Amino acid sequence: MEEKVIKDMIIKILQESQKSDTPLKEFGVFETVEEAVKAAKFAQETYENQTLETRRKVIEALRCGMRPFIEEIACKTVEETGMGRCEDKIQKLQLVLDKTPGVEDLKTEALTGDNGMTLYELSPYGVIGAITPSTNPAETLMCNAIGMLAAGNAVYFSVHPGAKKISRWVVSKLNEIVYESCGIQNLIVTITEPSIEAAQEMMTHPDISLLVITGGPGVVRQGMKSGKKVIAAGAGNPPALVDETANIEKAAKDIVIGASFDNNILCTAEKSVVAVEQVTDYLILQMEKQGAYLVQDEAIIQKMVDMTIMENGAPSRKFIGKNANYILAEVGIQVDFDVRVIILRADKIHPFVTKEMLMPILPVVTVTDFDEALATALQIENRLHHTATMHSQNVGRMNLAAKKFQTSIFVKNGSSFAGLGFGGEGPTTFTIATPTGECTTTARDFARKRRCVLTDGFSIR
Ligand code: NAD
Repeated sequence: MEEKVIKDMIIKILQESQKSDTPLKEFGVFETVEEAVKAAKFAQETYENQTLETRRKVIEALRCGMRPFIEEIACKTVEETGMGRCEDKIQKLQLVLDKTPGVEDLKTEALTGDNGMTLYELSPYGVIGAITPSTNPAETLMCNAIGMLAAGNAVYFSVHPGAKKISRWVVSKLNEIVYESCGIQNLIVTITEPSIEAAQEMMTHPDISLLVITGGPGVVRQGMKSGKKVIAAGAGNPPALVDETANIEKAAKDIVIGASFDNNILCTAEKSVVAVEQVTDYLILQMEKQGAYLVQDEAIIQKMVDMTIMENGAPSRKFIGKNANYILAEVGIQVDFDVRVIILRADKIHPFVTKEMLMPILPVVTVTDFDEALATALQIENRLHHTATMHSQNVGRMNLAAKKFQTSIFVKNGSSFAGLGFGGEGPTTFTIATPTGECTTTARDFARKRRCVLTDGFSIR
């Protein structure tokens, strides 16, 4: 049968099953890890023999083909996970499609001299095992898929069980689009019922060549035990430092929109503010003008602590990524949906400061001067080297802070999400690899570097 006929048949089946009440046959979704990896391996072996032009077409098809579904994906994700804001997720997904680099990210390096020519080329790894978080499930999945396929790989997605429905749906849709654009199925796969056990089985599967882990410290530790190469994007606790030279009105706005974006579930989002006392009151006032709600009553703050932090010290899933008005209602304060973030004054050892809460609660720590601010912010960041932001007009101080923080992302005079290419220069990613040092990962990080040498030739200068 001709390729076109087969394609048309599959598309027809897909369309038909979408119309009926029976569950959609999900392409790329398998019952077992073994079946899924096997299918991805087979697909990758075909894909790696295709031209770069084919890969470009695949990436372009993914960008265009996923666009009509952005709203649906955003809302279904919020519905399933109970985390985030639909309107913010739409922006994140848009960003993924617009600014995740494709094949153009794979730059060849060439050296020439009296001994000839050496090329450094970027080749596929094979099948990548990608672990995705519950907090940004579809964003990470789509972003990883674009970068990994651009680099010539297939990918097995080990998704969070709490986001399995939307993740399966996205995997299936991506597969359909890839198939329509290049005739290869199963370059993107997953399993029906994800679990920790299945994730661990995948991590040690002999046909998985690289692990890309986006999640908390536990899964990063687990991945490191696999004996495979790991790109690990772990947890952070980003402080926002504000000194007396800052443009306070702008700093307040940047911090409020950054910390409240998708209800603070981004690992890069401002999780606390450290401000010098000269400007703290004015900063808080300006933050309130930008949609922050200030809680001053100590008893209510304690109630919020007891409610949002579980006995084992971890933030309660009941409140992760919830709206500020929902959290406030639980402590007896009624405000409307427009309140984007809850702010409070706290000291530097307050649990809301030291823990990665992933909810729109933003403590403000007051310090005497810049030196104390930097020391405090460093302590809060806790050498995770993930993300920090700073608001100041003093270049010397910003330079010093950048050197001391050594974070993968350091944003000056902007919202944290400027570091993801949202209102800041550069490409986007939802996998910021700090423990293993790749920083904001793109296609080139998902490729193996190879040295290809020609002796005594092609030095033509
Ligand atoms: P999580 O660590 O609970 O889960 C992440 C993924 O790992 C899920 O797919 C989960 O099923 C899997 N997993 C968890 N423990 C595992 C284990 N022991 N063995 C195998 N697999 C395991 O994280 P989450 O709550 O879904 O996401 C939030 C966390 O992820 C936060 O800490 C956040 O900072 C981090 N994160 C980091 C980045 C980054 O780019 N650095 C991006 C998004 C989220």
